[in-house]
Amino acid sequence: MNGEHKITSSHRERAAICYLRQSSMAQVRQHTESTRSQYGLADTAAALGWPSTSIEVIDTDLGISGKWGVAREGFTELVTRVCTGEVGAIFGIEITRLARSNADVARLAEFARITGTLLIDPDGVYDPADVNDRVILGFKGTMGEMELHVMAQRLQANKRAAAARGELRTPLPVGLVHDDAGDIVIDPDAGVQAAIRDVFAAFTACGSAYGVVAAFAGRRFPLRAYGGAWAGQLRWGKLTHARVLGILKNPGYAGAYVFGRYTSRRTVDPGGTVHTSITERPRAGWPVLIKDHHEGYITWADYLANEARLVANHTAAGARPPREGTALCQGIIICGSCGKPMMTNYHTDQRPSYECSSRRDRLTTPSCRTVVAACVDDAVAGALLDALTPEQVALALAAADEVTGQHQRVSRAAELAVERARYEADRAERAFCQVEPENRLVARSLEARWEARLAALAEAEQALEAAQDTLPPLPSRDDLEKLAADLPALWNAPSTSARDRKRLLRTLIADVTVLPEPDQAKVRIGIRWHTGATDELTADRPVHPGTARRSPAPAVDLVRRLGSTTSNDELVTRLNAAGHRTGHGRPFDIDAVQWIRHAYKIPVPDPYGPGEISVAEAARRLGCSTGVIYHWIHTGQLTARRGSAGRFCIPWDAQAEAGCRTRIAQSAHLGRAARPRTLRAPAFPAADGGEVSVTQAACQLGCSTGVIYYWIETGQLSARRGAGNRLHIPWNDQIQAQCRSRIGQSGHLNPAARRTKPRRRR
Ligand SMILES: [Zn+2]
Repeated sequence: MNGEHKITSSHRERAAICYLRQSSMAQVRQHTESTRSQYGLADTAAALGWPSTSIEVIDTDLGISGKWGVAREGFTELVTRVCTGEVGAIFGIEITRLARSNADVARLAEFARITGTLLIDPDGVYDPADVNDRVILGFKGTMGEMELHVMAQRLQANKRAAAARGELRTPLPVGLVHDDAGDIVIDPDAGVQAAIRDVFAAFTACGSAYGVVAAFAGRRFPLRAYGGAWAGQLRWGKLTHARVLGILKNPGYAGAYVFGRYTSRRTVDPGGTVHTSITERPRAGWPVLIKDHHEGYITWADYLANEARLVANHTAAGARPPREGTALCQGIIICGSCGKPMMTNYHTDQRPSYECSSRRDRLTTPSCRTVVAACVDDAVAGALLDALTPEQVALALAAADEVTGQHQRVSRAAELAVERARYEADRAERAFCQVEPENRLVARSLEARWEARLAALAEAEQALEAAQDTLPPLPSRDDLEKLAADLPALWNAPSTSARDRKRLLRTLIADVTVLPEPDQAKVRIGIRWHTGATDELTADRPVHPGTARRSPAPAVDLVRRLGSTTSNDELVTRLNAAGHRTGHGRPFDIDAVQWIRHAYKIPVPDPYGPGEISVAEAARRLGCSTGVIYHWIHTGQLTARRGSAGRFCIPWDAQAEAGCRTRIAQSAHLGRAARPRTLRAPAFPAADGGEVSVTQAACQLGCSTGVIYYWIETGQLSARRGAGNRLHIPWNDQIQAQCRSRIGQSGHLNPAARRTKPRRRR
C-alpha cells in the first residue's frame, strides 16, 4: 500500500478503527457490494500488521445521512476515541468522506495530527502530522465537495426540467397510482376509490376535517406504502385528522401536478447545531403547478372551495366557524361599546346569551352589555328572512347574472389579450427570422423585441389563468328561486340544524353589532350585510321571569298606603274593585295580599282594642307559660274575644290580673310553673373549705362554664382534680374580683358574661 512505511509500531500498539457509513437505508439494502468492501477494511488492517484483537469496526452510522444536522453516534464516538489517543489508525473507504461536511473531517484530521493517528483508505496511508499529507487530504476534501456540488447541481437541474414538464415521478397519495406508461391514474382498486370519494363527500356534507374523522369512525382507510419493505402495498388503518387534512390539501386529487409544495429550511440554534425543517410554500410560490394534468377525484374549483373552508375553520388563526349551538349569531357578534367580539354562553338552563369578552379582562365599558341570545337572534333572523323574499331574490339573481357576465367579460378580455400577445410574438419572431444574418445590429434589436413580446405573452397567459380561477361557481337559477320561495318553512323546519341556519345567515350577513343603548329595557342591533349595506334594529330585552311575575306597582302602592289600617279582606275587595291583577294575571285573594305584606314588610292593623292584651303579653306579665293562659280561656276562667285572624284579645285590668294571680297562688301545680325560676347552683359534693365547682363559679360570675374551663386550661385560674375527676376551684373574694376584672376587660367575654339572668324555658 502507498505510504505503508508511515505505519510504526506505536500505531500498531494502539487500536485500528474501521469506520463504516452509508447515507441511507436504501444504500445499505441495495449497495451491498459497498457495505461488503467496507467490512473488508478489517482485513486490510490485519494485513498491515494490526493484531485482530485491536481491530474494531464502528458501523452504527450505516443508513444515517452524513448531511448537516443529523446526529451520528458512530462519528462522535470516533472523534472521542481519537482525542483520548487510544487510536493508532482510522480506516475508511474514502477518508475525506468520513463526514459529508468538510469542517467535520478537518476537525477529525486536526485531532488525529495532535494524537499521532494515521488515516488510511485504499489509496494509501496519510499522516496528518505530515504537511504534504495534510495538503493532499485538504485538496481531496475540496475536490470531493466540488464533485458533490456539480453532481447535485446537474441532478437538480434535470429534476426541475422534468418537473416543469410534469414528468418527474413523485410519491403519489393513496388513490392515485402510476400506470405502466408512467402516467398518473386513479387507483383501479374500487375499495380505495370509494374511500377517497367518501372523504370528499363527507367534508362537503359536514364541513370540517374532524367531521370526516367522525364519519369514518369504525371504518378503515387505505394507505399505500411508499418505499421500504412494504413499497407499493396497500395497508388499511385508521383515518386520522392529519390524514384528512393531507387529503383535502393535496392538489393531486384535483388533477393538478405540483412540484415544490414544500421546501426545507436550515436554522442554527445557539449551541451551533444545524436543524433542517420542512415548510409548506404558499400556492403562489409553488415552482410548478400544472392543472388538469391527470384525472382527479374533484375539480380545481372544489379544491379551492375546500381550502377556503379549511381556512374558515381554523379557530387558532382567529376564524369562528358556525358551531352546533342554538345561538344564531355565534362567532359574528361584536360589542359595539368596546369593539371586542362577544362570547356565546350556554347557561345551565340552555338559555344562551352573548357576553362581551372584555369582561374576562375586566375591561368592560359602562355600556357593555350581556344580552339574551334569543332577543338578538329573533331580530336578526327576521331581518334575514325579510331580505330573502322572492322579489328580493329575483333582484339578487339579476345582480348575480350581471356579475357572471362581468366575469365572463373579464375572462374574455383576458383571452383576447392572450391572442393579441401571441400574434405580436409571432410577428416579432417572423421579423427576426427574415432579417439578413449580416445585418447584425438590426437582428439584435429584433431579437430583443421578440423576447419582450414573449414575456408579454407569458404575462397575458398568467392573467387569463387568474381570471378563470376567480370565476365563482353559482348554483342554478331555478334552484335558487325554489329555495327562496320556501325559505321561511325551511328555516323553521326541525330538520334544519342550528349550524345550517348559521351558515345561511353568514352567506348574507357579515357581522352583527350590539350597539350602546341607554334604555336598559331595549337592545339596539346593527347588521352589516356582505353587500356593505347596514341596518339598525331595536328589540325589547326579555323581562326576567321573576320580575315579570311581580305584583304591579300600583297594587303594591295601594296595599302600602292602606295596609296598616285595613284588614286583608277589605284590601282584597278594594284591589279587585280598582281592577288590579296579580303578577300572574289573576284576581287578588287573601294569599296574594298576605304575600305583598310579607314581601314589602307592610304590617297588619293592630288587632287589640284599648285595654286589651295578647296571650303572650298576659303570660309575660304573670310570669307563667302561654299554655296556662290558653287553658284559662278555653275553660272560661278568663274572658277573651277573637280578633282578626282568630287572635285572642284579652281585656286586661287590675281586677283580671288579680284574679289570675289568685288562681296561680291557689294551684299547687300552677304555682310552681308560674313562679319565676330562681338561680340554683347544682348540688356539689362536699368541697373542701373555700372551694367551688366550675358551675358554681360560672353562676357566681354570671358567665358560661366554657369561660371558666378556658381560664383553667390557660392557667389563668387555678383548680385541682377532686373525686370523680371533678375540678375544684379555690374561691374567695380576691379570686372572684380577679375574674370579674378579666371579664370587664375582655371585649369578647363581656356579652357572654353578661348573661346574669338564667334563661327561661319557653
Ligand atoms: Zn364590550
